[in-house]
Amino acid sequence: MSPPVRVRFPPSPTGHLHVGSARTALFNWLFARHHGGVYVLRIEDTDRTRSTEESIESILEALRWLGLAWDEGPPAPGYRQTERFEIYGEHARRLVRSGQAYYCECPPEQLEAERKIAQQRGETFRYSGRCRDRGLAAGALRLRIPAEGETVVQDLIHGPVTFAHSQLDDWILVRRDSVPTYNFCVVVDDVTMGITHVIRGDDHLSNTPKQVLCYGALGYALPEFAHIPMIMGPDRTRLSKRHGATSVQAFRDAGILPEAMVNYLARLGWSHGDQEIFTRAELVEHFDLKHVGASSAVFDSTKLEWVSQHWLKAAAPARLAGELIPFIERAGLTPPRDRAWLGQVADTLRERAKTLVDMVEAGRFYFQAPKSWDPKSAATLFTGPGAERLALLIDRLAAEPRFEAQRLEALYRRLADELGLKLIDLAQLTRLAVTGGTASPPLFQVLALLGKEETLARLRVALRAANPPSEPSGADEPPARPPRGAARVD
Ligand code: GLU
Repeated sequence: MSPPVRVRFPPSPTGHLHVGSARTALFNWLFARHHGGVYVLRIEDTDRTRSTEESIESILEALRWLGLAWDEGPPAPGYRQTERFEIYGEHARRLVRSGQAYYCECPPEQLEAERKIAQQRGETFRYSGRCRDRGLAAGALRLRIPAEGETVVQDLIHGPVTFAHSQLDDWILVRRDSVPTYNFCVVVDDVTMGITHVIRGDDHLSNTPKQVLCYGALGYALPEFAHIPMIMGPDRTRLSKRHGATSVQAFRDAGILPEAMVNYLARLGWSHGDQEIFTRAELVEHFDLKHVGASSAVFDSTKLEWVSQHWLKAAAPARLAGELIPFIERAGLTPPRDRAWLGQVADTLRERAKTLVDMVEAGRFYFQAPKSWDPKSAATLFTGPGAERLALLIDRLAAEPRFEAQRLEALYRRLADELGLKLIDLAQLTRLAVTGGTASPPLFQVLALLGKEETLARLRVALRAANPPSEPSGADEPPARPPRGAARVD
């Protein structure tokens, strides 16, 4: 029987969580959940100049938002590389004792000069091995690599990938300042944390033969490796800031629900037949490495919006209400206290919205009376006849005891019949008056949600705009716009 699955996600905390890394985290999480295994979070903070506490916080926050909780990891001690120097030290000493590693005191300037020469010749730099047999007792610690032969990485996605040793060199395990290098820490960590499957981006594939040789030198069995292809921008270069938003938080702030992000990321490189929409439970049930493709996936914002729209439509209204609140605040509006009401509002907005931001934009009028009306529509609708119709609507609506969508619709139909008009003639006039524009969720639902008092107040303001008093009335409400036909005074 194979040992229980243990996977890891080891971000380097040098910035926000990139969507590419988020997808790596997701694949690891899904693999662990699918196999009933353990998902470990490890913070790779050995590069102290580039690692920050803010980045750690930001990455953890993004993972929590995505719902990728870790089974082992911080704040428990021992999951940050900077807390593990003792373990790396022990392993380094072991390699020195067994003769698999040696100290090198070549001055950095000399190595740099050699690197430049190799570059000029168009060759990859390889350490000359000058200190290999000098038996030094201090300096940078290098791994002794067999000069001949090759190392084959058996990759679950790419198949066997062969690296000739002539392409590798005696790489540094521990720098002369005693800081262990990334490749060494990863091997020691993965072994000591009992990792069974290393699932990571294929930008790390070229590191893997070095790591494989290090496992061998330490006498450890290899884990399985699965290198997942990079995510590309539409121009087929690696997805980066040039392509727009790349951090998980940026998508959260753009109003994508976490379930949409997870669904979208899962399909970037993995497939299950032609299914596009997955619940988290379905992903856990179906996820496997066999169906991760070997070629890179292109990040498609249009598809993300489509997936986002699906999950906005699927969310329970109460949940949507909660999700909307920060977006309402961010738009400079005051979120209503009545959550149930906000849930109903959300329900009217989600049909047409791709994101939570869209919902707030399209539903601004629910939280604030329009400050102005679409000028073109106002010019055609807020006219003499428009004013008469508004006055009639105000009378009828004021007499309506129950402000419910169906009753309001019936009221509008009756009045339209009486006046020999079409329903739309009254509806567009009302829509402009209460929302400021000519597109909105179904009008009678909007009126019912705004309620009688607010609807009437907005219609009255519109009426004054359509039928301005000839003399300034001195009324306490300021005119919403200058009286029609008023000459501009410069
Ligand atoms: N810390 C590395 C990174 O953020 C991951 C290394 C690995 O998965 O082995 O790219």
